[in-house]
Amino acid sequence: MTIKESRNSRRCAICDENQNRVLFQPRFSGLALGSLMTGYDVVVCEGCGFCFADNVPDQTAFDIYYREMSKYEHQDRFGQPSEFEVRQFPELVRFIQKYIPDEQARILEVGCANAGLLNSLQQSGYKNLLGIDPSPICAQNAEQLYRIRVLTSALSDIKAEPGSFDFIIMVAVLEHIQDLNGALQKIHDLLAPLGRLFIEVPDATKFISSPDAPFQEFSIEHINFFSQKSLENVMGIHGFTDVFSTQVSYDQTDTYTGHTIRMVFQKHNVGDKFDLILDNDSETGLKNYIDASRKVENRIHETINELIEGQNPLIVWGVGTHTQRLMATSQLATANIVAFVDANPNYQGKRLNNVPIISPKSLIGMGEPILVSSRIFQSEIVHQIRFELKLNNSIFTLYED
Ligand SMILES: [Zn+2]
Repeated sequence: MTIKESRNSRRCAICDENQNRVLFQPRFSGLALGSLMTGYDVVVCEGCGFCFADNVPDQTAFDIYYREMSKYEHQDRFGQPSEFEVRQFPELVRFIQKYIPDEQARILEVGCANAGLLNSLQQSGYKNLLGIDPSPICAQNAEQLYRIRVLTSALSDIKAEPGSFDFIIMVAVLEHIQDLNGALQKIHDLLAPLGRLFIEVPDATKFISSPDAPFQEFSIEHINFFSQKSLENVMGIHGFTDVFSTQVSYDQTDTYTGHTIRMVFQKHNVGDKFDLILDNDSETGLKNYIDASRKVENRIHETINELIEGQNPLIVWGVGTHTQRLMATSQLATANIVAFVDANPNYQGKRLNNVPIISPKSLIGMGEPILVSSRIFQSEIVHQIRFELKLNNSIFTLYED
């Protein structure tokens, strides 16, 4: 992938204000051939309080990134869902059944990845299911694993008639979308009159409660930071009425509990009156999160400084947001790194800071110590090194659990 990074300022997708204040500026070290961006500004809108990433590439650049660099194909486990997803799907199905009980209903899932949730709906009797995902591998996996049809497309290019769907699902999608106006207009068009939409997004007011690495919630992919108020606002002005809302917490890995906002909306006319609610929650939540992240980050930087002091050769496992941030903001960039490792084939063969990215299996025969650069997958990676790859290399970790 060769995208020249061009970063554009975004108007607020809720109130169209272009005045905002910067709360934090995440920075990332770019991956050669495959990077989306090397930083953005976390801002709060002066008009309505919505918090989002400003100065990011345009939607087309994101569409190419999700087509070519998807993390959601999970080729390392042949497209199968994780044990945590398998635990979560039945609850989601029960929830969806409440709002769309008709098994003949036309259901579309946007950003369906390998269609694990659609498969659970299929097993519960739903007959008219369609997915859309930018990654062609996801469509192949969905077909092979479940015989479910998934269109390989960006939402803006979807080949479907207006009013084609009775129910649309967007779980962990809206926080990734650069052009919220375009996406929500498209969703509104695709829904039949009185059609319903199920949305789940991370709750930005609860970032501080999730024990991930410092600043990890400001990832390369998450560029909208919703509170319940800002989600209601953005949906309200795009022609959707709130039918149900709740806050949910569930385990996404051994050590990570995600806090999300789960809402169901119903389509109404875009012109219907909607009064914006001023959102004071998001800025407070993000500021607390930023302060807490700074404290943890200082400790991690000290650990890294001690580790790299002797300039001994080092292997670093992981090349996602966590590593790209450390390479841009800590002394890790000056370490004697001989290789990066990542399980995602989309990263393998590329380079980070001119150092090759290799597969886990390529580690066999290499004796250098391995730094595990992840918090939420730390224990899983250590387990993989010791018990699946059966390697005796020294292992360094950055977090206690
Ligand atoms: Zn605004």
